[in-house]
Formats: sequence, C-alpha cells, structure tokens
Amino acid sequence: MAFLADVMKRVKPSATAAAGMLARKLKTEGRDIISLSAGEPDFNTPQHIVDAGKAAIDRGEIRYTDVMGMLELRKAICEKFKRENDLDYTPDQITVGCGGKQTLFNALFASLNPGDEVIVPAPYWVSYPDMALMCGGTPIFVKCPAEKGFKLQPADLERAITPKTKWLVVNSPSNPTGAAYSYDEMKKITDVLVKHPHVWVMTDDMYEHLVFDGFKFVTPAQVEPKLKERTLVSNGMSKAYCMTGWRLGFAAGPTELIRAMNIVQSQSTTHTSTIAQFAAVAALRGPKDFIAKNNAVFKQRRDLVVSMLNQAKGLQCATPEGAFYVYPSCKGVIGKQTPAGKTIKTDEDFAIYLLETEGVSVVHGAAFGLSPFFRISYATATELLEEACQRIQRACGALR
Ligand code: PLP
Repeated sequence: MAFLADVMKRVKPSATAAAGMLARKLKTEGRDIISLSAGEPDFNTPQHIVDAGKAAIDRGEIRYTDVMGMLELRKAICEKFKRENDLDYTPDQITVGCGGKQTLFNALFASLNPGDEVIVPAPYWVSYPDMALMCGGTPIFVKCPAEKGFKLQPADLERAITPKTKWLVVNSPSNPTGAAYSYDEMKKITDVLVKHPHVWVMTDDMYEHLVFDGFKFVTPAQVEPKLKERTLVSNGMSKAYCMTGWRLGFAAGPTELIRAMNIVQSQSTTHTSTIAQFAAVAALRGPKDFIAKNNAVFKQRRDLVVSMLNQAKGLQCATPEGAFYVYPSCKGVIGKQTPAGKTIKTDEDFAIYLLETEGVSVVHGAAFGLSPFFRISYATATELLEEACQRIQRACGALR
C-alpha cells in the first residue's frame, strides 16, 4: 500500500504473537488445541504484588508519574541491581518502560543511525531484528549452532564486528533456546568486547531468575566492569514475577543514553501505568520465595518435555539451563511424508503439520533465525504438556 511508510516493507509482525493468535482462533472454532507457543508463565501474579496494585488504586495513585518512572521505583531498581548483580547505579541511570520490549526499543531508537549494525546471535528473540530495522539499523546475525549449546562463540563475535557495529545483543537465558552463559563463557565474550571500545552491549536479562540445577546467572557488566560505561542492562517484571500484563520493564545504563531513551518515551507512551509501578516496588522489595517454588515446577516440566521429545522419532532435544523454553531439532523429520502425502520440507511445514493433525501449537525455528528447529514453551499445565508431547510423539511416528 503506497500510503504506508517504507519501513513497513522491512518489518514483519511477531511470529510468536501470530502463532498464539492462530491457536486462540482455532480454539474458539471448537478445535482441541494445546498451545505451547505462549511466552508467559501460567502462574498468577503473587498476591502481595496484586495487593500493592489494588492499594495504589484505592489510595488514588492514578495520576501521571515522572516519564522515567517514579523515584521510589527507580530506587528499588538500584537496590535490585546492587543486591542481585553487584552493579552500582543511581536513580538517574534507570529508566522504566511499558515492558522490557519498550525499553529495548527506546534504546535502539535513541542510538541507531542508518547503516549502524546490531549483532544479533541466532537463534534470537523475534523482536530484536525487527526493532533494529524499525530504528534504521541493520541486524547482523551470527549463528550459534546446537553443538555449541546455542551460545555465541568468541571467534564468531570477533569476525562479526565491523567499524559500523553499534550494539551486541546478549540474551541469557535465551528466548527461544533457554541457553544461559556461565561466568567463564560470558568472560570469553566480554574479553572480545574489551578489545572493541566502539561496541556497546545491550543485555536482555528478562529470564535472569529462571535458571535451574544451581546455575548461576551473570550479566556482562558484572563479569567485566570495564564494559559498564557502554552497557545497557535491561530486565523487567514480566517473567519471574509473573507480571506480563502489568507491562513493566526497566534498564540501567550511562546517564546520557538513559536521558535520550526518556526523551523517546516522553514523546510516545510517557510512562507505564502508575499502578504497575507501585506493584513493582512491592515486588522488588517484597518476599521472593515464590520464584524458587515456580522454578521447581518449571524444572520438572523441562525434564518431562526433554525426555518425551527425545523419545519422538526424528527429534532431538538438549536440556537448557533456564527460561521456560526448549528448542528441539526436527532435522530427522525433514524430507519425510505425512499420512496425507505431504512432504515436510521445513520446520514451518513441521509446525503446521503438528497444528493440523494433532492440534499442538509450536513456533517454527525459522522465525528465530535457526532451522530446522522449533520452540516449545513449557509454561503450561503439566498434564497438558504431557498430553502435547504424546501427540508430538504420535505425529512423528506417523511420518514415513
Ligand atoms: N526479552 C525477551 C527475551 C522476551 O522473551 C520477552 C518477552 O517475551 C521480552 C524481552 C519482553 O518482555 P515484556 O513483556 O516485559 O515486554
């Protein structure tokens, strides 16, 4: 359509949102659908956080706040960074947005000039490349194969850096693979970055608390303090605090960048909901025992899904360190024929086959930049997961 901006020719809608929407549509049409495509916990927001939100409404805390978020919340976020990541920030180095998605977008919008490159390790969260494109930048993909645990290798990073590189995106634990970098793995990445002072680091630590088997989360600026002055540490309440719909993300970084991000936000959403900000203060300063309880359930589900998928003909699934996703390979089903006589040529064909024959909704790997794989979110009731994995086993077994 000639009316639309040229940028719309380069940007696609989110594939994960599209898969979720299709699953919901089929469900309303009466199909028996199990959706494993949602990127959000199936647990409710903990009661003390809900109560803080309700109390804020009852007290009449329903007016605008500062664009960058209330001072009290930014103080609570500084305390979080000190307590959990050993990082010192002052409230003017903190910005709060409508979800982690908006803070990342604000940062790219505030920093990218046409032709600037953003290194995106693949597989990646679907929004990084499109957000970079919307902001005039060029995503540069670096493949992180399954054999390397889906993790960026230092030599590959070194090769991808050019004079035009502006950012490296580091998402650990990762959506879609669940892979997370140990201290030693992260140190190898930060060692490369120290040699290239023009490259900034955009971390996406959204799944920080969702790690299993005693894994210790680290963020780049903590591993290499020399990088702190060119790192944006982003995080949010959505996943570990089960607050996806409250829309609250935050980031810390050098004052000048944060100030620019706040200008972008001041001319778009102004700030996230005042009520969500009060709830986030309670969440960050309140009890956190629910995180360990939820993680015990997630770990049990992860182990169930990995074990059941590895029993499906043609699939291979590694055990990830964190998040609530697995990213199995479907290489073994490519080239096979479905009972209806269709050949499975791509991971997208396989995802469609699972949806059409067994009513299981997953997201194909091409959407995340690494094929032939698919993503399963195991943030769903354990009985449903078991049933979904049985259906996937049956679908794989029916291929010839
Ligand atoms: N970053 C990653 C890796 C995610 O998976 C998500 C949500 O799916 C986000 C950021 C965005 O989170 P929010 O809902 O806070 O915008």
